[in-house]
Amino acid sequence: MKITDIITADRPSLSFEVFPPKTSDNFESVMSAAMQIASLNPSYMSVTYGAGGGTSHYTASIASSLMEAGVTPLAHLSCISATHATIRERLDDLRARGIENILALRGDIPKDFSPEKLEYHYASELASEIRDYGGFCIGGACYPESHPDSADSASDIEALRIKVECGCEFLTTQMFFDNNILYNFLWRLRRAGIDVPVVAGIMPVTNAKSIRRICSISGTMLPQRFIRIVERYGDNPEAMLQAGIAYATEQIIDLYANGINAVHIYSMNRPEVAQKIRENVASIIA
Ligand code: FAD
Repeated sequence: MKITDIITADRPSLSFEVFPPKTSDNFESVMSAAMQIASLNPSYMSVTYGAGGGTSHYTASIASSLMEAGVTPLAHLSCISATHATIRERLDDLRARGIENILALRGDIPKDFSPEKLEYHYASELASEIRDYGGFCIGGACYPESHPDSADSASDIEALRIKVECGCEFLTTQMFFDNNILYNFLWRLRRAGIDVPVVAGIMPVTNAKSIRRICSISGTMLPQRFIRIVERYGDNPEAMLQAGIAYATEQIIDLYANGINAVHIYSMNRPEVAQKIRENVASIIA
């Protein structure tokens, strides 16, 4: 099934992300976590893509297993470290497996990169290549607080407009902790004529140590209300888990109540987190 059909349906959608292991040693535990999340009957599941390295093929194999388990997969694919030949191989593989949905990404620029050797510069180039290849529903990433590489939000929105013109049929947001930031972003998108469906990405924060670092890298703002929670419960893993899930649940209910029908959870391969969130909104999405 195409992601656009799922997220534009009348009922709210709730989907989850998993990421493949960095080494083959952890493959079984990641697969087990993915299958446990799949058993929660999500609207779809995305599988991230580790650019380069020897494990990028895991994305397709996890996505295939999800499909066998009856869940629509969204396979991420990034291009910054790729060649046109390797992208073609990935597309052939995804097509052979019957995977219909791809999130087309640039990926983070590698530290040791030499610009003249890059075959891709932006996700929009990958999106248009996938569109020309044919047969896939294509999504892209977007950033309610702007991508950290962008000079300003106007140029970021202009780049998004190009990405949509190049074939992205839906967008998934970077995490955000203040829903007003998303509502404002959506208004600016619509004003720029970008009218594809937008899936709201929500990260339940369960680990206080990593969140400040993640936010500073991604340019995501932590609201005072959230900082207080981290300060108060950050040293108590059980309390932080409960508070992080409660905060994310509140965000999700507010999004649905305001007509944002598609919510994607960055579940960090934690089935217990995915399950709690699913339970907390069970009647809302029924
Ligand atoms: P782009 O859309 O290419 O944007 C990158 C920068 O270039 C932005 O500043 C943009 O404004 C600018 N830009 C874009 N197009 C143009 C243009 N035509 N002209 C001028 N400027 C332009 N990373 C992974 O490695 N694997 C994953 O699986 C993965 N999944 C992700 C899922 C989501 C939902 C999100 C939000 C991010 C994900 N990332 C992933 C991280 C992502 O790869 C990084 O944020 C990366 O730095 C940017 O990727 P992008 O596809 O948004 O790039």
